Amino acid sequence: MELADTPLADVRARIAGACARARRDPGEVTLIAVSKTRGPDAIQPLLDGGQRHFAENRVQEAEAKWPALREAHPAVQLHLVGQLQSNKAEVAARLFDCIHSLDRPRLVGALAKSFAKTGRALPCFVQINIAGEPQKGGCALSAFPGLLAAARAADIPIAGLMCVPPADIEPAPFFAFLDKLARHHGLEGRSMGMSGDYETAVMLGATHVRVGSALFGSRHPTKGD
Ligand SMILES: *Cc1c(COP(=O)(O)O)cnc(C)c1O
Repeated sequence: MELADTPLADVRARIAGACARARRDPGEVTLIAVSKTRGPDAIQPLLDGGQRHFAENRVQEAEAKWPALREAHPAVQLHLVGQLQSNKAEVAARLFDCIHSLDRPRLVGALAKSFAKTGRALPCFVQINIAGEPQKGGCALSAFPGLLAAARAADIPIAGLMCVPPADIEPAPFFAFLDKLARHHGLEGRSMGMSGDYETAVMLGATHVRVGSALFGSRHPTKGD
């Protein structure tokens, strides 16, 4: 067995292990390093380790941080995992490569316009408020079919579904439900699983796991977490 002597090697090994248990091809799972609140000094070791997918949850923070890092690493793929305001859609279209937080019809319109203007049609995950938590982002289950239809009508490339299950309860049923919902609507991608539960998510069909603290160490909580 490979010696997992860095957090990156450890997370990769655990993803491979979960894939083996679920008889999945590890090539189906993209590890996204969530680098919100982390500076270039913390990000650099991951870049050196070959990590290329990163995520931020604020447009402004990403704008300040990534252009310089990307100059040295043009293969970086940047994901947006936080709520996106319609008036920032165009900046986001230029800066990011994938959006995990399409959650309302208004954003469909703003993104469609921005994609046309920038010539960049980014793959988007529809974020589902999977447990109907009032304080959480994401589209209500009842509104999802309408949102998906609107996104498809506007030619937004739909990568799949994304969710953040409730804290402190067993996430597996929520992951299983997201997987089923994606399959029902013919969607490939399942963006699910964070530091505490990404192995479970991989066993239940995750194609994208969003891992922050397991790679970077614990983070001081900030608004928007
Ligand atoms: C911060 C964040 C993550 C990563 O969380 P960790 O628990 O640090 O792995 C994943 N997804 C979203 C949407 C986030 O905001």
